[in-house]
Amino acid sequence: MAAKLQERIHRDDKNLCKLCMSELANVYTGLDVSTEELDLLDMPRRSFTVHFPVQMDSGKTKMFVGYRVQYNDARGPTKGGIRYHPDLTLDHVNDLAFLMTLKCAVVNIPFGGSKGGIVVNTRELSRHELERVTRAYIRDISDYIGPFKDIPAPDVYTDEKIMAWIMDEFERMRGKHTPAVVTGKPLELGGSKARSYSTSLGGIHMLEEAIKRTDMDKFSVSLAIQGFGNVGMNTARLLYRKGYRIIAVSDSKGGIIKEEGLDIEEVIKFKVETGTVSGFKDSRNITNEELLVSDCDILVPAALSDQLNKDNADDVRAKIIVELANAPTTQDADRIFQNKGIMLIPDILANAGGVVVSYFEWSQNLNSNYWEEEEVLRKLKKTMVNAFYDVYAIFKEEGRGMRRAALQLGVKRVLDAERLRGNL
Ligand code: NAD
Repeated sequence: MAAKLQERIHRDDKNLCKLCMSELANVYTGLDVSTEELDLLDMPRRSFTVHFPVQMDSGKTKMFVGYRVQYNDARGPTKGGIRYHPDLTLDHVNDLAFLMTLKCAVVNIPFGGSKGGIVVNTRELSRHELERVTRAYIRDISDYIGPFKDIPAPDVYTDEKIMAWIMDEFERMRGKHTPAVVTGKPLELGGSKARSYSTSLGGIHMLEEAIKRTDMDKFSVSLAIQGFGNVGMNTARLLYRKGYRIIAVSDSKGGIIKEEGLDIEEVIKFKVETGTVSGFKDSRNITNEELLVSDCDILVPAALSDQLNKDNADDVRAKIIVELANAPTTQDADRIFQNKGIMLIPDILANAGGVVVSYFEWSQNLNSNYWEEEEVLRKLKKTMVNAFYDVYAIFKEEGRGMRRAALQLGVKRVLDAERLRGNL
């Protein structure tokens, strides 16, 4: 079976999801899986490209390219972010839609997975151009999205303001209020309380469950966090307020370390004033590379993909890694961590808090019944902790790492849904 999977991975097929196949190979090596099951999982159900004209401020018309991939909807309407990036490709959107499918299945929310976006550098657009580009894209894909079809959300370089325009354009076309068409909206337009820091909080629940499975003491552990944006900064802030010792943080310009623990509230003020954490008083400047191999108990990558790779994995000293970024660890590094006995909480579990609260937002919109923050937080914790133990049970039984256990659980839940629908 492994050979068959490898053969598929190298097949020259434009529609094939390559990440999906290598992850499936990871899950299924040594297990029984039928060709029918692989056929069903290795391609998206729907995938489309739109080309649309937008009038720029100069009065000239420019063509833009947008994508949307609805990978699998066996468990419910597809759910996935919209990314605006100049290097966006359909292949990459495919990979991300596949991961969203498994992420929603792992945390057991009733959604399939999707992803989309526009090939654009938002820094080159005025505010009005950004709005016109967004509205034009939504007009082109409006027949294929909706509360019971496919529900977009923010992703890289898209935010709640853009989600508000998406909702407004969709509602104008349908002639009725439909807030559940998109999540990550401003609170005033039906957004959910706690959505803005839900990815970080979900990750912290995973981190705390992981600590309980070791002999480490919660308040004596040391933490290093790579990335100080929405996810990294909120994670640092929430952990600091809980009394954790964060010894190192970083952003794209570099990092800082202080073995006794950083005053994160002061670091945040410094970052807001100067645009970077680097140079913060009462600490030592380090590079991002040094942060990853620093002498910490817990490492939290919360920036970019492929940060932990075969060049640095041997030198990583942390005992627990919590992947808040998407795909921060390469497969080579993953194997090294497994051999070293590092407990790695994989991205499709660790950073799922955001999509869980998106599900709560959708549900509140459909019922026109809005929850207090405490209720959102209680339900988020319950959903995340349940998912942790669902994955942990497989990990304990098989002993082949938490990533493999999470992938296996996600794939099983999607295939079970397909089977019950009569598709297998
Ligand atoms: P962001 O743009 O707000 O922040 C990214 C941070 O990474 C910034 O501090 C930036 O300075 C830093 N950075 C960039 N290049 C770096 C480098 N070379 N070394 C170190 N740091 C670098 O993005 P975000 O929303 O915080 O997302 C961070 C990661 O989390 C991404 O991988 C994203 O896909 C993932 N994620 C985010 C969410 C969410 O809800 N925002 C949900 C799931 C996953």
